[in-house]
Amino acid sequence: MAKSPEVKLAVFGRAGVGKSALVVRFLTRRFIWEYDPTLESTYRHQANIDDEVVTMEILDTAGQEDIQQKEGHMRWGDGFVIVYDITDRGSFEEVAPLRSLLEEVKKPKNVPLVLVGNKSDLDHIRQVGTEEGERLAAEMACAFYECSACANEGGAVAEAFHELCREVRRR
Ligand code: GDP
Ligand code: MG
Repeated sequence: MAKSPEVKLAVFGRAGVGKSALVVRFLTRRFIWEYDPTLESTYRHQANIDDEVVTMEILDTAGQEDIQQKEGHMRWGDGFVIVYDITDRGSFEEVAPLRSLLEEVKKPKNVPLVLVGNKSDLDHIRQVGTEEGERLAAEMACAFYECSACANEGGAVAEAFHELCREVRRR
């Protein structure tokens, strides 16, 4: 039997945007309120995507690494989830610099990427409009998902990870 493909995914974004909550939601279909924000973890996960078993290694970064550590994580990964928090404009403004660093580290390859605006359940304190996320994703030529690690309506969290796997496999 053919060995199932393996993809290495890293999750980036400012501390507090919900990276750990999203990863745990994806892996366990549950929401857990608090994680140690300084913790960095990797997980292995298998999923059936388009009738193929894909093994993922997922790195949940802490979001407070220095530049050398960030670059190391970027060299390691095949695909990247960049997360911002729709209630934190500063986290949205950190997306473009992260993307630039990724491009630089991975050049001349182009970088499989998805953009995730998290905490969509907190619409009443939103600071970043859905169209702004869509526009940024269009500029970066990547898929965009607004989702909530705690509500996860429509399974958008898994969809974002699966789409990223597809994107990696297409390259
Ligand atoms: P990380 O630093 O990016 O890993 O962020 P965490 O996963 O530790 O989450 C930071 C905080 O945001 C925690 O208090 C979480 O409970 C909260 N949080 C994460 N995702 C969501 C979400 O989708 N909705 C809401 N309301 N809170 C969230
Ligand atoms: Mg975390």
